[in-house]
Amino acid sequence: MNIYSLRRKDLENYFENIGQKKFKAVQVYEWLYKKKVTSFASMSNIKKEIIQKLEEDFEIATPEIIKIQNGKDVHKFLFNMQDGEKIEAVLMNHDYGNSLCVSTQVGCNMGCAFCESGRLKKRRNLTADEMVTQILLVEAELNIRISHVVLMGIGEPFDNYDNVMKFIDIINDDNGLGIGARHITVSTCGIVPKIREFSKEKRQVNLAISLHAPNDELRNKLMKINLAYPIKEVIGAVKDYLKVNNRKVTFEYIMLKGVNDKEKHAIELANLLKGLTCYVNLIPYNETSHIEFKKTENKDIMRFYDILKKNKINVTVRREFGSEVEAACGQLRSNYKEEK
Ligand code: SAH
Repeated sequence: MNIYSLRRKDLENYFENIGQKKFKAVQVYEWLYKKKVTSFASMSNIKKEIIQKLEEDFEIATPEIIKIQNGKDVHKFLFNMQDGEKIEAVLMNHDYGNSLCVSTQVGCNMGCAFCESGRLKKRRNLTADEMVTQILLVEAELNIRISHVVLMGIGEPFDNYDNVMKFIDIINDDNGLGIGARHITVSTCGIVPKIREFSKEKRQVNLAISLHAPNDELRNKLMKINLAYPIKEVIGAVKDYLKVNNRKVTFEYIMLKGVNDKEKHAIELANLLKGLTCYVNLIPYNETSHIEFKKTENKDIMRFYDILKKNKINVTVRREFGSEVEAACGQLRSNYKEEK
């Protein structure tokens, strides 16, 4: 068992089960996440015999960074997991802090027509420790503190729900990395039962929904998931989320030239979202090997933006990050073996 996959309370239970005081869990957490040691032997305020027991029961293991590409304010990391699978994470330097875009699966089964990450079908879920160590390795490599985390890398977080929630608990813990819930954003393509489950947990974590189209006819073409959970059900789940969670929901909307970026789409979108506590994040499309999709021109993005504004929908345009090193949204890949 990898020690990085334990919540503090799991570690407290462990210590109680071996007849120790549970505050030892706090000490171990501080060693791992504040002092960032990578061996039990370095945990100098813990008794020798307990260190031995920890060494028998756990490993402190991480993947390996095998490639780093640096762009302006952006660094893309390729990781080799312990079983040889590959995933990527992207660090962005914002003026408000450092934000890491974390992957949650090797490959992805959601099959969105425009996204590079789904070119490789899901091979497996990432474990909580494989998500936690993306943060630890990037912090160590760049000698920085990561203040924000977005679950927007490779994979669908709500298709790996339990590990993702565990991951959030671990990085949110004050005795560990202490990344504030409000600084964590989980993004889903719209798996309705999981939105509902997430809703019940009443977390302060931000919820983002990849919408990308204002009607089912168009969304069915772009996102296979819409056949299972059409827009009405997604919006219904978001409405119920908003009844019990005092948070704004983000709707992500990629701007695809000539596909979903016309005036009528903006009006339809405004009508769909009217009255919801939300904002729309317009995402300039990053061109990929899906050559059928092109990026909407800036002036057309701004026209779309203006229509939403005029209709009293909160809207922002996502800053373009990392396209020079193929580190932008939808450009991350797991299928390195085939390519390089
Ligand atoms: N599976 C989750 C998490 C991935 S988030 C989800 O769908 O929300 C990645 C975001 O980038 C999603 O909103 C996704 O739709 C968007 N995206 C995918 N391909 C893109 C591309 N080529 N350009 C811009 N955004 C893209």
